[in-house]
Amino acid sequence: MSKGTLYIVSAPSGAGKSSLINALLETNPTYDMKVSVSHTTRGMRPGEEHGVHYNFVSVEEFTDLVEQGAFLEHAEVFGNYYGTSRLWIEEQLNKGIDVFLDIDWQGARQIRKLMPAAKSIFILPPSKEELERRLNTRGQDSETVIARRMQEARSEISHFDEYDYVIVNDDFDVALIDFKAIIRAERLKQDKQAAKYKSMLSALLADQ
Ligand code: GDP
Ligand code: ADP
Ligand code: 5GP
Repeated sequence: MSKGTLYIVSAPSGAGKSSLINALLETNPTYDMKVSVSHTTRGMRPGEEHGVHYNFVSVEEFTDLVEQGAFLEHAEVFGNYYGTSRLWIEEQLNKGIDVFLDIDWQGARQIRKLMPAAKSIFILPPSKEELERRLNTRGQDSETVIARRMQEARSEISHFDEYDYVIVNDDFDVALIDFKAIIRAERLKQDKQAAKYKSMLSALLADQ
């Protein structure tokens, strides 16, 4: 069995990262894809659950985890700390499970250095106006938080060219098809196929 692929997914807040990742996992009948649950010091939004959307921790708990080396990467985003658990990800990849990281460009840079085999995907909104509309209709952030996220959007978007793939999330269904196409193509790479079909290939290649 070959190892799972690590996917880094970034986008300006509100572009539809979480919606696309959730839709991908919901429509996947097997258990060979998982999303990593980050630790964050941000406050919980209505409807969010500890351990499901994030592991919500205090700044002190977060700092302790950083000192223990628990994070593969961590970064400060919009004034809060976010970090990705090292151990859990390594376990999943070793089991052949693909793992999705919903992280910002700073985290993406750290992961690329540590794990060069990771594939990165950037999600763009079709326009600034639509991005703002989505942040407002999500209805989970205050006006000040939305204004801050809109301000930071340009800086996040300016890093799009550091990514392997770019998806424009205009029509959601089209964006989901594009997202699935990337994963499918990655799974069809020669080294992955060789590991998956090892015994079939040795039979095909055996002498008469
Ligand atoms: P969202 O924009 O609605 O997804 O808002 P979130 O509060 O869920 O995420 C805030 C920012 O933190 C986004 O840019 C995420 O990509 C980033 N982020 C989330 N988790 C992580 C993480 O584990 N590591 C890093 N580096 N960034 C993260
Ligand atoms: P992110 O995780 O990137 O911050 P979300 O997945 O939370 O973004 O999406 C932000 C809001 O935009 C949500 O209310 C979501 O339902 C909506 N949304 C996502 N993609 C689309 C799309 N293609 N068209 C219209 N609305 C969308
Ligand atoms: P939100 O607070 O809206 O859930 O997330 C804001 C931003 O933080 C998003 O762009 C998200 O991708 C990013 N983010 C979430 N978790 C992590 C993480 O563990 N590491 C990094 N670097 N960014 C994260």
